Amino acid sequence: MAVLTAEPLDRLLDYRAPEGGCMLGAFVQVPLGPRRVLGVVWGPGEGRFDPAKIRAVHKLLDVPPMREELQEFLTRAGEYTLTPLSQMLRLATRAPGLGDPPAMRKIYRLGAQPPARLTEARARVLQVLQDYGGLAFTMGELSASAGVTSSVIKGLVAQGALREEDSPRDLPFQRLDPGHGARALTAAQDEAAQLLVAGLRAGGYGTTLLHGVTGSGKTEVYLEAVAECLRMGRQALVLLPEIALTQEFLTRVEARFGARPAEWHSGVTLTERRRVWRMAAEGGVGLVVGARSALFLPYQNLGLVVVDEEHDTSYKQEEGVIYNARDMAVLRASICGARVVLASATPSLETWANAEAGKYQKLVLANRFGASVLPQMQAIDMRAETLPAQRWISAPLQGAVNARIAAGEQALLFINRRGYAPVTLCRACGHQIGCDHCDARMVEHRFLKRLVCHQCGETKPMPDACPACHVEGRLAAVGPGVERLGEEAAALFPHARIATLSSDMFGSARALKAQIAAIAAGEADIIIGTQLVAKGHNFPRLTLVGVIDADLGLQGSDLRAAERTFQLMRQVAGRAGRAERAGVAMLQTYQPEHPVIRAILGGDEQGFWQAEAALRQQAGVPPYGRMAGIIISAPNPQAAFDLGQELARRTGPLLRVGAQVFGPAPAPIARIRGRHRVRLLVKADRGVALQPALAAWVGQLRLPAQVRLAIDIDPQSFF
Ligand code: ADP
Ligand code: ZN
Repeated sequence: MAVLTAEPLDRLLDYRAPEGGCMLGAFVQVPLGPRRVLGVVWGPGEGRFDPAKIRAVHKLLDVPPMREELQEFLTRAGEYTLTPLSQMLRLATRAPGLGDPPAMRKIYRLGAQPPARLTEARARVLQVLQDYGGLAFTMGELSASAGVTSSVIKGLVAQGALREEDSPRDLPFQRLDPGHGARALTAAQDEAAQLLVAGLRAGGYGTTLLHGVTGSGKTEVYLEAVAECLRMGRQALVLLPEIALTQEFLTRVEARFGARPAEWHSGVTLTERRRVWRMAAEGGVGLVVGARSALFLPYQNLGLVVVDEEHDTSYKQEEGVIYNARDMAVLRASICGARVVLASATPSLETWANAEAGKYQKLVLANRFGASVLPQMQAIDMRAETLPAQRWISAPLQGAVNARIAAGEQALLFINRRGYAPVTLCRACGHQIGCDHCDARMVEHRFLKRLVCHQCGETKPMPDACPACHVEGRLAAVGPGVERLGEEAAALFPHARIATLSSDMFGSARALKAQIAAIAAGEADIIIGTQLVAKGHNFPRLTLVGVIDADLGLQGSDLRAAERTFQLMRQVAGRAGRAERAGVAMLQTYQPEHPVIRAILGGDEQGFWQAEAALRQQAGVPPYGRMAGIIISAPNPQAAFDLGQELARRTGPLLRVGAQVFGPAPAPIARIRGRHRVRLLVKADRGVALQPALAAWVGQLRLPAQVRLAIDIDPQSFF
């Protein structure tokens, strides 16, 4: 029989079936050279080999076979993204010890007693357990996460600071009760929920765009669809863009259904991953809340996939298998006959166009829940302001902030830039400090007391002398980052309580959560924040949002620059006035006449999307045309460029389907992590079967050692 393994081979392997045979989709362990690897029975053998000579399957694993639906999904997703099937299988088996027998094992939780003496190692153990809320850890996981030996953990158990328990592996999750905490919905919410419920009852595939302004109750509405899905005995998946949102969300699910759902993301412990994977396959979990890779779990009976904040760019995985989880959710649902809900206040143009074309059903929630109204939008024309050097808060914005503080309300100053300053310049020689491995400037992070490369994460201490001319004391920070804005605010508003929220300022998710809760409780007058604050958090006292640089996202040649700016500005503005108090959003801009800025100010959403759609249609770019990015990288720039040129010479397979090739050109960031990068861009009409042509095109070449080639279908970013 033919077995698919997760090893990097581009073919199925033939093995002799175990005695008694085995089912299609069965998980097996097979010998491969000297090793034993995980595989899935993918089909009958091809009978090309002498049966006496082929090796036997080592072991049939005790997990439910992969369903045909998932096999088809992996196959089609692999074809769409031009990813070898073996790599797709790896995505679908990201849980350790799949074949291990269910047995008892020891797990550890927080105990009732504080330890007698709190050493640093002990504190780390307790911190890890606190960070994960109520979760229990195995000895191996706990010692690895806390970086301590098992004797530290045993010491804590002896003192009663930890509890040791016997636990069977892989317990089913507590059942969610669809009738538990249902809320009375408003008429508009109820109508939307009823339509989603009707779709589920009708059965079969269908996608709905749930388009509602921030705070309109989209979550309340789609949780009703989840409830119906659970009542029907099917499984539901809610995809969220960011781990930071998860805790808040889990509490909300618990309030609605009386129990917590399963979680699936990079922060979940290995034991818990294995449990979620198994329970998805065995039907021991009703609702999974997760990041994009939760789409590849082996659900027994998937009935609903919700993609919350469907426009969020983090749904696009840019490394390894390059895929967009939103699109893959639609694909998976269409194969297994599930419903999809795409929820957003600012949908992507792709989704908007699909709804306009009638491919997706569209539900609109036009008003916020309760008394809260959308903020009023104003521009501050920065051409008319005279700000001293290295200052970014204009007089009108300063006045508005003062007024809010006086009224006992909160103001948010938004800048989408982490760190202290984007550029560190030597005033003696003009040198700008760059990363050694990337074509990127190092960003000063004063909080961390280091320079950080935002491309590769490399850090180094802030030097005293210029690395180029060695003159001391002349390095200057140029431009604003969120930390520097915090400094300016502290100087301008000396009596205000200021809280800065940026992802790298918090050692743990728990600390960040605590800070967010403190802000929500009113323990800050001014919040300074990056993109992190644009998402989902609810600050009831917040009535003013000041955007320091509304033009920032419009720079650059990105196809989606306008769309992103429009979405981000609306999301940020949406933070203001969520409770009973009306809000104002002020946008500092040097180009108030720019069509995107005007659309944001005017709130003319439909007009904006129509104009944007027309522009893209004219240019023949997605979603009205097809695009693929080719990224070639190598330690040696010439090797990358040579391969690009060879591709550009041998375009036969692409020309035959009428596609055009642009490039090769150095990528905008021409070097990342020491690898030189060259890009090509392929464009084609919407109806063209681009993937087979691309496969034939790149298949003509052999990659020299050390040269890598990645294909990005429907590219989102062009770095
Ligand atoms: P969205 O997902 O559209 O941003 P949410 O579902 O988070 O909106 O709702 C915004 C706020 O209003 C939340 O605090 C939510 O609990 C509250 N809310 C929305 N609808 C209702 C309702 N029908 N009853 C009670 N509270 C509601
Ligand atoms: Zn770097």
